[in-house]
Amino acid sequence: MLYDLKDKVALVTGGTKGIGRAISLSLARAGARVAVNYSSDEKAAEDTVKELTEINGFGIALKADVSDYHEVQKMYQMLIDKTEALHIVVNNAGIIRDSLLMLMKEEDWKKVIDVNLTGVYNCSKAALRPMIGQRWGRIINIISPTAIMGRPGQTNYAASKGGILSFTRSLAREVARLGITVNAVSPGVIETELTRDLDERLKQEFLSMIPMKRFGEVEEVAQAVVFLASDRAGYITGSYISVDGGMT
Ligand code: NAP
Repeated sequence: MLYDLKDKVALVTGGTKGIGRAISLSLARAGARVAVNYSSDEKAAEDTVKELTEINGFGIALKADVSDYHEVQKMYQMLIDKTEALHIVVNNAGIIRDSLLMLMKEEDWKKVIDVNLTGVYNCSKAALRPMIGQRWGRIINIISPTAIMGRPGQTNYAASKGGILSFTRSLAREVARLGITVNAVSPGVIETELTRDLDERLKQEFLSMIPMKRFGEVEEVAQAVVFLASDRAGYITGSYISVDGGMT
């Protein structure tokens, strides 16, 4: 096994679909006991738990809106009660509510910042206590090329993902001496339900920006996360890995 996460417990927010699901399954294949968080789709959660359990005999789903501080606290309590440890948190849950700023509703600005950015605050803060106790932890935040390049129609999303990158660099400095690393992974345009439904014109526009001339696969993002979660990435903190076919 290239990366050995045996004896590690991982929580993946938004771990029941798309990129988060692939990350969860890859962490489990590397030996970690994985809990997946989700906010509404019970069926996707059940299916993911079934697959996790088939891989290494463990899998739980925890329903909580990551933007709600109290729901997140309860979720962590349930997890720690079950596993008595937490080593790896992947802050993956994210949403988009695109529109030009002139037309952007206040609720769409707030919702994206609350779920994407405040969600990372809530879930990272709650993870620190067990990680400090163990003197070992990995926090891995999923950002986006939009954080680096910007994109029209995505001021809310770009601000949230850019905020996560700055959060990553600052928290990395805070906890480096405690055996905890904090990094980000930036997926480019990845084949998910979202991108499969894009209209042809937008697909071609994205492809023209990608030197490798193809969209990425969820598994390619997951492998970068598994690497950062492993002991082999022990001296990497405050960094981000782009998995974007050269786009940025
Ligand atoms: P997705 O397929 O839409 O899945 C989103 C996941 O997040 C689902 O499990 C969903 O569960 C959960 N979720 C949504 N709101 C939540 C909340 N408030 N609390 C807890 N869970 C919540 O997303 P994706 O395309 O795989 O994207 C995953 C991450 O990668 C996001 O951070 C996104 O910004 C980033 N990203 C994606 C791409 C891409 O090309 N797809 C590119 C760059 C970055 P429920 O359905 O049950 O709510």
